[in-house]
Amino acid sequence: MVRAVRDSLVKGRHLAVQAGTGTGKSLAYLVPSIRHAIANDTTVVISTATIALQRQLVDRDLPRLAEALKPVLGRKPTFAILKGRRNYLCLHRLSGPDPVDDADQLFDPFAISAMGRHVKRLHEWSSDTDTGDRDELVPGVPDSAWRQVSVTARECLGVSRCPVGTDCFAERARHEAGRADIVVTNHALLAIDALENSTILPEHDVVVVDEAHDLVDRVTGVATAELTSAMVATAARRCGKLIDQAVADRLEEASEGLDMVLTDAPLGRWESTLPAPVAGALTAVRDATSACRTGLGPERKEDPDHATSRKLALALLDEVNETSARLLAAFVEEDPAKRYDVVWLAEQGPDASRGRVLRVAPLSVGGLLRERLFGPRTVVLTSATLTLGGSFDALARQWGLPAEKPKPEGAELKDGKEEVDPIADADVPKWSGLDVGSPFQHERAGILYVAKHLPTPGRDGLPKAYLDEIAELVTAAEGGTLGLFSSMRAAKQATEALRPRLEQPILCQGDDSTGLLVKRFAEDDATCLFGTLSLWQGVDVPGRSLRLVLIDRIPFPRPDDPLVSARQRAVDSRGGNGFLTVSATHAALLLAQGAGRLLRGMDDRGVVAILDPRLATARYGGFLRASLPPFWPTTDPEVVRAALRRLATKPS
Ligand code: SF4
Repeated sequence: MVRAVRDSLVKGRHLAVQAGTGTGKSLAYLVPSIRHAIANDTTVVISTATIALQRQLVDRDLPRLAEALKPVLGRKPTFAILKGRRNYLCLHRLSGPDPVDDADQLFDPFAISAMGRHVKRLHEWSSDTDTGDRDELVPGVPDSAWRQVSVTARECLGVSRCPVGTDCFAERARHEAGRADIVVTNHALLAIDALENSTILPEHDVVVVDEAHDLVDRVTGVATAELTSAMVATAARRCGKLIDQAVADRLEEASEGLDMVLTDAPLGRWESTLPAPVAGALTAVRDATSACRTGLGPERKEDPDHATSRKLALALLDEVNETSARLLAAFVEEDPAKRYDVVWLAEQGPDASRGRVLRVAPLSVGGLLRERLFGPRTVVLTSATLTLGGSFDALARQWGLPAEKPKPEGAELKDGKEEVDPIADADVPKWSGLDVGSPFQHERAGILYVAKHLPTPGRDGLPKAYLDEIAELVTAAEGGTLGLFSSMRAAKQATEALRPRLEQPILCQGDDSTGLLVKRFAEDDATCLFGTLSLWQGVDVPGRSLRLVLIDRIPFPRPDDPLVSARQRAVDSRGGNGFLTVSATHAALLLAQGAGRLLRGMDDRGVVAILDPRLATARYGGFLRASLPPFWPTTDPEVVRAALRRLATKPS
């Protein structure tokens, strides 16, 4: 991997590397990245999806590497962490009045006093912190409180105009990053920097995307916009005393109009056009925000309070204006296959308590990534899971890269690892795929058990046969089970049904913070932990405490997910197989991540048990199985229970 990354940086050719847990992949990209940065007097950007990996890089790997490489490189390499502006405390906002923007909290004394306590704590923290970085605040505060003391890039006054700009945490982080050899950031900021052509990140010609399996979702998140009537009302309130009351009232009326038409509009994805009343309401919102914008007039430099209020109003006006214009333009193209955006209406909050939201998201981000990320830079993508069904193609397509060429004769590296030649067409980005494998011997250390005899899972919760199967497996293993369920409802149902039946303690996600639950699970061999999506990717428990990973069903996305259904239909309309390309790919990625929880250390042994029989019987089952680590496979319940009993009695 080190050689491949070095070659990629030297030749300016993109690289995708699948590197299993325990290969030391972060060192394998950090060393050539540091060398590239120092040799070319430039910055290399490393992007991660999770805070845990960011911390590992900045607190552990990079400090050690900097020391170790200093004698070789002639100077100590430098590194910095950089996040979006919203992640840093804004000293200017902190010193100003705190407008309660959230309409839900306006008349709720409890919410206001809870907010007051959080904001007071943030004031105290501001004099202790060196970085103002939200992730360093433990315990954290709710988003609504953090919003009172932070600003978005749009809301920031700009360092030259800000009265406390010289002490600004976000500016300090940017300054540090500008001088560093390595800058560690997250996928969201990387996406904003690349897609919006902004210059948040220092100038760079190389990006390493770790946890690259998450890139498309994070980029889609950045490129998704939402509009609610509450946002429009807040924009009108922010304009308040700054503009002519009649102009602000027009926006307030537009907000009420939008609220009314959204209440009556059909929920779900809108396929052919905007309902006429919604189009009318959006036009009113767009025009009223434009009028307010004009009404705000130029900035009064001599009055910092006015400048702040104006900037906060302007930021939200622009957001509302751009989103309503984008929604109005979404159906202008008549051919659905050529449309760029997908539009849908959804309920917000528990029991739809927070009203309705209009969302607009790109059908695909591949084109954007290809043009804005892969076009100007050399990109190294890496993760423990990048090949699905045995190939990089599924993810490459989502990144906007062409499929791999079939493996040429003799494309074996000396150490037996596969390398695929870049494709030859000059107009498409050139890339190579490399699977460096895993240090684990999966077929000796783990069993993949598919419960082929069980019924296909239905819509009405876990059938009794599933609960019985789980009870038998957990009993044979004497606990030590991580239950990964496709819904919180199923995780809770299994917990409630099995707690009285089993001797082993069962923790359920939501009982406490996930971090604490994982800690308790790791500390006791008998304890089981049941939960859903965040456990699929976030649990790293080496050793005997985790010897059985249970997966209740193939984690297909919901068929009514608007983006998934639109993406499937788009593939179908081009003559492809939308289900395989979109839903099965999504499920394969999650299954591989879930199964990857089992072996975390060289001495680990255990079983991945998938209760959904479709993995063995359905036509797409082969693709999904080929996406999993090569465990020893069985569908025989007696064989697997005997193996679990041996594991339970014989410490590895
Ligand atoms: S420069 Fe922007 S982010 Fe920094 S303190 Fe001023 S307003 Fe806040």
